[in-house]
Amino acid sequence: MRVIGEHAVVLGAGMAGLLAARALTGAYERVTIVERDGGSTREARKGVPQGRHAHVLLPRGQRTLEDFFPGLERELVDGGAVVADPGTDHRFVMGGRTLLRRAGTERAIQASRPFLERAVRERVAALPGVRFACGRDVVGLLSGGPGRISGVQVMPRSVGGAAEELRADLVVDAMGRGGRTRYWLERLGYGPVPREEIDIGVGYASRPIRPALAARIGRAVVVGPRPGRSAGMALVAVEGDRYLLTVAGLNRRPPADDDGFLAFARELAPPDVFEAIRTAEPLGGIATHRYSSDLRVRYEKVRNLPEGLVVTGDALCSFNPIYAQGMTVAGLEAEALRRSLREGPRDLARRYFRAVAKTLDDPWRMAVAADLSLPEVEGRRSPAIKIMNAYVDRVQAAAAQDAAVGEQFFRVIGLLDPPTALMRPAVLARALLPGGRGRVAAPVAREEHATA
Ligand SMILES: Cc1cc2nc3c(=O)[nH]c(=O)nc-3n(C[C@H](O)[C@H](O)[C@H](O)COP(=O)(O)OP(=O)(O)OC[C@H]3O[C@@H](n4cnc5c(N)ncnc54)[C@H](O)[C@@H]3O)c2cc1C
Repeated sequence: MRVIGEHAVVLGAGMAGLLAARALTGAYERVTIVERDGGSTREARKGVPQGRHAHVLLPRGQRTLEDFFPGLERELVDGGAVVADPGTDHRFVMGGRTLLRRAGTERAIQASRPFLERAVRERVAALPGVRFACGRDVVGLLSGGPGRISGVQVMPRSVGGAAEELRADLVVDAMGRGGRTRYWLERLGYGPVPREEIDIGVGYASRPIRPALAARIGRAVVVGPRPGRSAGMALVAVEGDRYLLTVAGLNRRPPADDDGFLAFARELAPPDVFEAIRTAEPLGGIATHRYSSDLRVRYEKVRNLPEGLVVTGDALCSFNPIYAQGMTVAGLEAEALRRSLREGPRDLARRYFRAVAKTLDDPWRMAVAADLSLPEVEGRRSPAIKIMNAYVDRVQAAAAQDAAVGEQFFRVIGLLDPPTALMRPAVLARALLPGGRGRVAAPVAREEHATA
């Protein structure tokens, strides 16, 4: 990578900030990562409360991480992360049906969010020119004159700390959902910054457990929401010989007391899995989280966008966490940033926002369409969304009987292939033609729980 600037500042040391920092090294002589929390921890930290809930890394995200940090997968596994063959070790229930997969095609690496973040952070800290400035709040943007952001204002969290200015050729906002960049920009006279938002009111509750009957679970069980039951669960084996059990409801809040939590899980889990949950040893309290909406901020549509500032991660686009896209999309955005940097500093922000908008289109449409397949979610259902959801239902029905269709479906939701891959003739035929699998297995009213 050609050096195009002296200093870049990344705001936030979550997954998106860390991956952006990786993309920036080589293009800037120095990269400073400003983070309000302290150093890395083994437990979920205050700035990333979602770290207490199961985090699944999609196959595309796994590839990006290995590309950015060669050997990371090996390191994660040596450090205790769980390796699984999704074809044999996972059970996925979608649209009320257990989907089939082929064995031996993928290797899934499973770990808790703090474990994964810590490993990535150690790799980033070892990169040349990277420095962490922890315990500091970013409180505003610095204007470098008309059409340019030239740094940020930060406030140390320590008592008596005075505000500091950090000048930079490029500022990367990775402060997550709560980031205030679009308001700061508007205050400086840019924008307005358009956004798209769909209220989903997702409530999460999670607990680490150690099941005596782990063999019944395999390495992961995921049950998605379906029309008529807007709730889902994930039970995932992670480091430390434990499982993370996460239950979630759309426009429903799972209870945080022992009995209520268990009763919610009973509604969702296949009976044999529920027995393993019921008899498991709880390893900690029940953590809850609330996630109000799918949110996409459309910086690419701002006419007078300044140079010197880009945005990534949840601050740019955040999805219903049930679909597990966030960390993978943060990786795709870091790849888009790296490609934009390779073309030099000219018009960088505009080129990046345009490129990343294209990257986001598929995951955003998939998440929104899936949410709108649930009658409990309010929002306009265009004819295209209705057709897509009806078709996906057929594909899932076919995937419950045909591992080749299942494999293709998982490649799409794993962000390895675009959604158009579901329109390939082999899938179309199985999903739609008379005698095709999707026709045979009509949409279900009751859950079909096959064991893996
Ligand atoms: C309940 C839940 C479950 C999820 N499950 C999955 C999953 O299974 N798979 C998946 O891929 N994704 C999942 N996600 C999404 C995923 O956590 C995020 O999309 C991903 O981590 C990218 O987040 P981020 O780095 O943009 O923001 P965050 O993780 O929110 O990080 C933002 C960082 O910025 C710091 N910060 C914020 N404001 C300031 C400030 N003013 N000054 C300094 N620092 C600041 C914070 O301390 C934090 O470190 C889930 C999310 C939730 C809520």
